Amino acid sequence: MIGVAKQDQVSALPAAGLPLRVAACGFASSPAIVYRALTGCVPAEAQIDDDRAFDRHVLASILAAAMAEPGPINQRCGLGADDFAALVTTQFPHISVLLSVLATDEPEDDEEAAMVRDLLLAHRSTSGDVGRWLAAMVARRAMEPDHLWEDLGLRDRTELTRLLLRHFEPLARDNTRNMRWKRFFYRKLCESEGDGVVMCSTPVCTQCGDFADCFGDESGESRMAGRRREIELRATIVS
Ligand code: SF4
Repeated sequence: MIGVAKQDQVSALPAAGLPLRVAACGFASSPAIVYRALTGCVPAEAQIDDDRAFDRHVLASILAAAMAEPGPINQRCGLGADDFAALVTTQFPHISVLLSVLATDEPEDDEEAAMVRDLLLAHRSTSGDVGRWLAAMVARRAMEPDHLWEDLGLRDRTELTRLLLRHFEPLARDNTRNMRWKRFFYRKLCESEGDGVVMCSTPVCTQCGDFADCFGDESGESRMAGRRREIELRATIVS
């Protein structure tokens, strides 16, 4: 879970007198500040009962997580420059100028992410740009090393499951054995002929040495919450 940003930090984002890019880079270093600047609230207070609010929460979470990492923001979340510009101007217009200076013209060419993206696109259950953007964003973030819901900056795995059921329902419903989502994507690619993806070394999961990687626990405390708890713990020890 993304930590609570202090209001004075948020209001100080576009530091007066600083070049916009310098201000944007400083702003981008904290997912907590980014999330609050995007949505106006901290994640714990996010109201995500309706689908539109949920989509906006997901997009803000992904942007906040991606912006904390080095490199152009649109590449970190798998979007070309045009799609990134469309996303920020339609979903977060109040901060689109600041976000745009962190993007680049050329999208990263990642064959593996493209295969996962195409898998998601082939199983869409919504129409419109948000689902298309999310296919690319989820695929790109799936290249990161942690649980997928963590790499997306979400609060827990249930949010990822909801995202997949909402936008890619036929694929999500197929995960009947509750596999870890990244492994499930690769399993599906492995099953489809012609993609050249080989994941399974045995035909039967129960005899496979990778069983824990595919079916192990995917829940737990998010990285953000863990880091915040460590900082709070260190502060308590020092004082
Ligand atoms: S446990 Fe082994 S056989 Fe089953 S999906 Fe995972 S890699 Fe494939």
